[in-house]
Amino acid sequence: MAAIDDLPPLREVIATHGLQAKKALGQNFLLDLNLTARIARAAGDLAGSDILEIGPGPGGLTRGLLAEGARRVLAIEKDPRCLPALQEIAARYPGRLQLIEGDALKIDPLAHLTPPIRVAANLPYNVGTELLVRWLTPPEWPPFWESLTLMFQREVAERIVAAPGSKAYGRLAILAQWRASARIVLDLPPQAFVPAPKVSSAVVHLTALPEPRFPADPAVLSRVVAAGFNQRRKMLRASLKGVAPGIEEHLAAAGIPPTERAEQVGLEAWCALARSVKAAT
Ligand code: SAM
Repeated sequence: MAAIDDLPPLREVIATHGLQAKKALGQNFLLDLNLTARIARAAGDLAGSDILEIGPGPGGLTRGLLAEGARRVLAIEKDPRCLPALQEIAARYPGRLQLIEGDALKIDPLAHLTPPIRVAANLPYNVGTELLVRWLTPPEWPPFWESLTLMFQREVAERIVAAPGSKAYGRLAILAQWRASARIVLDLPPQAFVPAPKVSSAVVHLTALPEPRFPADPAVLSRVVAAGFNQRRKMLRASLKGVAPGIEEHLAAAGIPPTERAEQVGLEAWCALARSVKAAT
């Protein structure tokens, strides 16, 4: 396949800069630039957007995003060893790649970005899940981002797109699907990464909806859903007891039988329940 740019292959970059993967930083690198270009294309309109990339590592996805025409990329990387390699990419694409060394969980990147903004990342799954929940639960909607294109362990990706009644359905599915549309756009086997992780991965693409699918207060919805799924095998009248006094009346107001379990309840009914609880407080 044709090279996507005239920079050295990633194996060479890793060798030159001594970027042996560190387990503590969840480093599993993508070395196939045609694959990273494919992931970049899944992120949507690159030319018309600023891209926030978290965890660029040696820069495989960064190069994919830039080669596919991203207007600008702001990349936040925690591992200082990666910065010299990333600076070489910045020099190849003048004015289009800005780098920040630091922990994405502690940095607010918004001052450096101009809307529309899209997010792309291949992150350790725990950091990815924490950031996803933050990006899905800002105080105001619509959020700063138009879309999120994120790599997860396949099992986490399934939890994001899960439908009611399935084992994977839970808080993540509800938070993701309430105000965004989410789908799995690419599956990757362990061998796509160096070193290969134990499990398969998948890329999830989420697009922010202009408005939530059903009205609800985010904090109340999040609290009610968390309580319901914390004890997912219990009937809701029991698992939600601590959420609000008279929970059976709220369940009735939302049209949910008190004997149902959390995983049987669809998004619309969860939102109705959150509205009833909110109205009583
Ligand atoms: N994007 C590169 C790729 O696809 O080959 C690297 C992916 S690797 C799975 C995850 C990257 O995230 C590593 O480079 C790691 O150093 C970085 N990272 C881990 N935790 C981070 C954090 N809290 N903030 C920013 N970067 C982080």
